[in-house]
Amino acid sequence: MSATLDSMVDRIDISGLRAVTIVGALPHEREIPQPLQIDLSLDVDLRDAGRTDELGDTVHYGLVADRVIAAVEESKDILLERLVARIADEVLSFDRVDAVDVELTKLRPPIAVDATSTSVRIRRTRADADLPAHTVNTAYVALGSNLGDRESYLRLGVHGLGHVTAMSSVYETDPVGGPDDQGHYLNMVVEVETSLDPFALLRRCQRIEGEAMRQRLVHWGPRTLDLDIVSFDGVSLTSDELTIPHPRFAERRFVLQPLADIAPDLCPTGWDERLEAGGIRSLGPLDHDVA
Ligand code: ADP
Ligand code: MG
Repeated sequence: MSATLDSMVDRIDISGLRAVTIVGALPHEREIPQPLQIDLSLDVDLRDAGRTDELGDTVHYGLVADRVIAAVEESKDILLERLVARIADEVLSFDRVDAVDVELTKLRPPIAVDATSTSVRIRRTRADADLPAHTVNTAYVALGSNLGDRESYLRLGVHGLGHVTAMSSVYETDPVGGPDDQGHYLNMVVEVETSLDPFALLRRCQRIEGEAMRQRLVHWGPRTLDLDIVSFDGVSLTSDELTIPHPRFAERRFVLQPLADIAPDLCPTGWDERLEAGGIRSLGPLDHDVA
């Protein structure tokens, strides 16, 4: 299922952009370019970027500014109303922008009274522009750690994934497979709302794993955090680098037990009886301090 983000409060403001162009109905305005100021306020969900520190999770305001200036400079519009609408369309062509306020100001208004400026101000949403709503997908990601400060690594994972909307309890589990001398794992599953596609989400998971490894190199050995995409909305895909749903999740109690906390519908029927019980203890919720 896809959901639409409905409570947007985050903004990116770009103020005081200047351009010189032809606009206006008067004869001299058709001949002589005049200075305009553009002030923009973009509705963009900044929650992901606030956690991931990735440019891909926000709007590149330098590019927005460039595109707006280009649109203004190629103007031959008669009305500010027309030009301001074109600016709004240009800004809304950036996927992550849900709505935009645009104020367009003539800095030298061609009127016979003393006035500093004249301006028009509009607000346009994606719906106004007939653009599809900015959609988010729901994915479930399984986290595991069996080295070092395991809880910290889980926290690093949760924090780095972006907009986490549900978290299972943390489970301590006996290691399954692999070398005999491994320590116990901490496992959990989280629900993530993301506008990334499955491959981009995989790259994010790998980046977070890399970060955990870098942090870990200082104190310990090579493997501290494993992030697996269990499912991604209705997506079913098989490729060299990514298979969704995760090919082994239905056989792993250390995935299904936490998954059952937050998405029991995704667990295959009868899993609880079919898979050997034991070797897994609930430790309760992760103390998840997202500062
Ligand atoms: P595992 O998670 O099975 O213990 P790794 O973490 O070493 O093993 O992952 C091996 C590879 O599995 C990754 O490089 C990744 O490309 C691939 N992979 C395939 N499907 C998925 C998925 N759904 N989630 C995460 N990784 C996946
Ligand atoms: Mg993995």
